[in-house]
Amino acid sequence: MAAAKHDAESLQRDRTTAQDVHLQVHAEFHAWKDKMVVDTFKRLGNARTSPFSFAAHAFRMPRAASEPLPTPPPKPEDRDAELLIWEWNYDADGKPDAGRAIPMTVVALPPETFGEHPRYQYCTPASRNENARMLDNKDAPFAPYPEDPAFPRDAYLRTFNDVQWVSDQRDPDAEVVEYETVRRLHIEHGFSAARIDHIMLMSGFTPLRKTNESGLLWAVGQRDLPPVIWGDGLPSSSKPQLPPHFAEEDYPDSNDVFTQVNTGVSKFCPNLNCLTHNCHVHIDADWLSLTPAFALTRPRLTSAELPAAVHGPHPGCGNDCFSLIHENDMEDDGLANVPLDHLAVLGSLFKAVPDASPCDLAVICKMRCRDVFRHRRDTIDDAEIISSPPLTKKKKPKVKKHKLEFWGKDSAITPCVHPGPCSDATLCECFRRKLHCERNCRCAKDCLRRWEGCNSTCRKTRSCRRSSKCKCRLAGRECDPELCVVCDARDTQTHFPDDVPAAAVGGKCTNVALQRGTFKNIVVRKSKYGLGAFAAEDISMGDVLGEYVGELLDNVDERVGHREIIQKHSKLNYCFGMGGVPADKDGKGGAPETTVDAQWLGNPTRFLNDSKPKKPNCVAEEFRVNGELRLAIRALKSVKMGGELTLSYGERYWEQGQEAEKGRSGVAVKTGNHKQRNK
Ligand SMILES: [Zn+2]
Ligand SMILES: [Zn+2]
Ligand SMILES: [Zn+2]
Ligand SMILES: [Zn+2]
Ligand SMILES: [Zn+2]
Ligand SMILES: [Zn+2]
Ligand SMILES: [Zn+2]
Repeated sequence: MAAAKHDAESLQRDRTTAQDVHLQVHAEFHAWKDKMVVDTFKRLGNARTSPFSFAAHAFRMPRAASEPLPTPPPKPEDRDAELLIWEWNYDADGKPDAGRAIPMTVVALPPETFGEHPRYQYCTPASRNENARMLDNKDAPFAPYPEDPAFPRDAYLRTFNDVQWVSDQRDPDAEVVEYETVRRLHIEHGFSAARIDHIMLMSGFTPLRKTNESGLLWAVGQRDLPPVIWGDGLPSSSKPQLPPHFAEEDYPDSNDVFTQVNTGVSKFCPNLNCLTHNCHVHIDADWLSLTPAFALTRPRLTSAELPAAVHGPHPGCGNDCFSLIHENDMEDDGLANVPLDHLAVLGSLFKAVPDASPCDLAVICKMRCRDVFRHRRDTIDDAEIISSPPLTKKKKPKVKKHKLEFWGKDSAITPCVHPGPCSDATLCECFRRKLHCERNCRCAKDCLRRWEGCNSTCRKTRSCRRSSKCKCRLAGRECDPELCVVCDARDTQTHFPDDVPAAAVGGKCTNVALQRGTFKNIVVRKSKYGLGAFAAEDISMGDVLGEYVGELLDNVDERVGHREIIQKHSKLNYCFGMGGVPADKDGKGGAPETTVDAQWLGNPTRFLNDSKPKKPNCVAEEFRVNGELRLAIRALKSVKMGGELTLSYGERYWEQGQEAEKGRSGVAVKTGNHKQRNK
């Protein structure tokens, strides 16, 4: 009873302290701000001279004359000038001189010199697609066409859930006050983070940390704080700050690299096209599954088995390699010299890849491989190693290839993660959806569902040309830099000239344009219908000119949305269909799965006009690039420099366009006569 009473009393005391501090900080902040605002305005009012006062006379603007100045007559020889203008100079006191007349020659320019530029709609330049599915219809970023009464603004804004310029706004001053309150409570009054959260939440404060990317401390970390001078006359910058991991008690393992990797990995896109955090192409509503957390891996090799298993008879990293040194010869003090944080990283690596080569781990941890090996021996108990696999080569499971079923040549976008081989029994998504396993699937490297690359078909030609039987090309895929070795899809000769593997010499893959961005130069200028795209260099048949990029949406065929309203109003449509059921060879029918909308985001390929009534000289082709579907614009014939580049938008585009004109819903989507080679 007494203890409870004591707790209640101390809570009440702390609450009073917190409230006092908050009020104090609030008062100090506003006193500073009021003075700062007044001082700033005073300074502006006093600004007699320009910041360039050292040359003030050069920038002095004459005051507009209250009455027209008397115009002196022109010189006799200028009397017949077509046009005269007058010029006055002002002295230091701002008084004009007598002025002089200056004759002008009028030159009439042909009207087309400054002809009206074709209508152009701005778009953000981009080289990659951007997944807009999650954000579409969420918040309106701005209200377009504010001065155009014909634009249905209300209908447009109603298609969004909210407007960006109203929602999610916090008072930035309140944030500064809250932060300083928290700082004082901890530094000056010894409050713990938990105590602060407990007390201040009741006063409507933001929690210190909600997740590792929200909460007061995170928000303050995202901004610049103003240079407040507090009540004691000292600036914020001179005060002791909160410790770096303040309020991180909820994340006890946050210093462990393995945990950190698993925290960050959920937003890491492992696709070879990306290899970056928060990739804009693949991060989706289910992005958590894009890179699933790594599970602890149980070691399978004892210390005695390790050298032979990872290196065979060869030394791993040279003469100093741990595998060459007898255990008794390893001096004992080596480990003692290794910094502790290096050992911590190594400990984390053992959790993920305990059977990896110590030589590789040594590079990562900046240690000697013998120290890695010794640390492994000290920390991983041989007695705990479950049955180690036989060192003889494992026989491949006997699965006949023709028993593997694939729908088209599609590949997993979300990698499969499950114990055991890819099958129905292991709930493998790749198996169930009849997809190829991709690089990032967590199944065994020799999983039979994995795409193999074109080593079997391109060994002779080593170029993967359009005319070849290249397996990758035939499947509508670009070559894979890791799998397609014979054509040197990785281009080791250019990128790693000193390190060319003998097998790759001579290969020159031509099936990697999208992932390398090796495109042709296109210029945008006036065409018969508004703007068009023109060849800025000679283009050969088959050349990939560029990638049609834009915002990725689920096929918006049936939806009436903000995009359709803009399209109808601007009479511009930059949507291109991708995936799904392809149109027939006349460009009819088809139901694309994805829409690539280049209205707000794109590159010059969005200016390719429809060729009607002529035949197009370019075509849009779908390619799977490291598992990701992308649109390549390819030349169907050679085009001389300056020639206009055209596409066929497909019958469907015009039919839908007409329906839309008639007021029926639906966004017209270009389907092109693009061949879908992945079916
Ligand atoms: Zn990605
Ligand atoms: Zn699988
Ligand atoms: Zn898979
Ligand atoms: Zn697999
Ligand atoms: Zn090939
Ligand atoms: Zn290939
Ligand atoms: Zn190739």
